[in-house]
Amino acid sequence: MHDGGLHVEGVALTDVATRFGTPCYVYSRAALTMAYAAYRDALQAHGLAERSLICYAVKANSNLAILNLFAELGAGFDIVSGGELARVIAAGGDPGKIVFSGVGKSREEMRAALEAGIHCFNVESASELEHLSEVAGSVGRRAPVSLRVNPDVDPKTHPYISTGLKNAKFGVAFDEAFALYRRAATLPHIAVKGIDCHIGSQLLDPAPAAEAADKVLALVDRLAAAGIALEHIDLGGGMGIQYRTDEPAPAAAEYLAPMLSRLAGRREKLMFEPGRSLVGNAGLLLTRVEVLKPGEEKHFAVVDAAMNDLMRPALYDAWHDIARVGADTTAKGAATAETMSYEIVGPVCESGDFLGHDRLLALNEGDLLAILSAGAYGMAMASNYNSRPRPAEVMVDGSIVHLIRRREDVTQLFVLESTLPREG
Ligand SMILES: *Cc1c(COP(=O)(O)O)cnc(C)c1O
Repeated sequence: MHDGGLHVEGVALTDVATRFGTPCYVYSRAALTMAYAAYRDALQAHGLAERSLICYAVKANSNLAILNLFAELGAGFDIVSGGELARVIAAGGDPGKIVFSGVGKSREEMRAALEAGIHCFNVESASELEHLSEVAGSVGRRAPVSLRVNPDVDPKTHPYISTGLKNAKFGVAFDEAFALYRRAATLPHIAVKGIDCHIGSQLLDPAPAAEAADKVLALVDRLAAAGIALEHIDLGGGMGIQYRTDEPAPAAAEYLAPMLSRLAGRREKLMFEPGRSLVGNAGLLLTRVEVLKPGEEKHFAVVDAAMNDLMRPALYDAWHDIARVGADTTAKGAATAETMSYEIVGPVCESGDFLGHDRLLALNEGDLLAILSAGAYGMAMASNYNSRPRPAEVMVDGSIVHLIRRREDVTQLFVLESTLPREG
């Protein structure tokens, strides 16, 4: 599906556009299932599947149908807010398989997670540990805790998605973790359970994650020697995916092997928090060319999707392959179009509103385009900027298309707003 523009599984994208309109996110159930299976199989190959839990990082794509699909496959979930907790529960996820990450958990979010009975809090600071201890005391529970340690390794990815360096806002500094574990062990409403690290996202080289694992394992052993035995080791997410046809990404088995070989023969349970790698290549954004605007230096193709629908190009200068969907009843003169270099841009009033630069395509107004590999951090980051209703989302399952989120209606965008009362 990654390199095919025309069909997703057994369904033509032209049919999706006719039935559901554009812009529209299209996901493949088979691709989601296969991405999860690749993780499972890699763990199996190292004899680790039995004592591992794959916690899907909800923030990558939090649609209920996707959460429900992963829950059915046996996944746990990595959440970063009370909102994500509510979504996982609404989607039928098991609260006992949830880990809660994030640098700024509110007391209210802590309380909700404790009451739901989540598996573990990934605590990211000394202060958070004290807050959690207080909240757990006030509701008469013990909070299960991992410290998210910051192993200070460079994941060699985009600075905005690099999270494990010394100066990052995430996690507890590696040198302070040991003392904080000792403190945690003295708190009556804290149950020390594990350790966690997550060094960044879209990682293509397995070496930094393996280096982080080495540091984490050394700390686990040091803690055990001091009488603090951990039940689980959570090595986070971050595995990269292929965004460009000419830039292949490692397969899960290949990426995970150096990490997994270090974990064989240990007694702790293992956890992973993959987000992007489970959903990224399983989704695309379907959009229609509204206007072709030839220029002196650049030719613009203005499409009906924009930075508010898919923010990654504007935010990270990220690349998504863009394919013309093909034979389309509403396109005129498809055969006459000339291949040219286009700036693929949206209608939003920002120069940063682009989906792709310098793409060689033969286009007519009315053509459909598929923005590929848009399943992760696509809809999840979508906004209503410029009062644009967010796209519909559909999931293809063989030859069936399920609408999994209706297109927003303009009136829904201001339903929470009110004008000032009239004076006098
Ligand atoms: C975002 C995030 C993940 C998932 O990262 P991916 O790169 O999407 O795999 C996992 N763990 C934590 C703590 C995160 O913040």
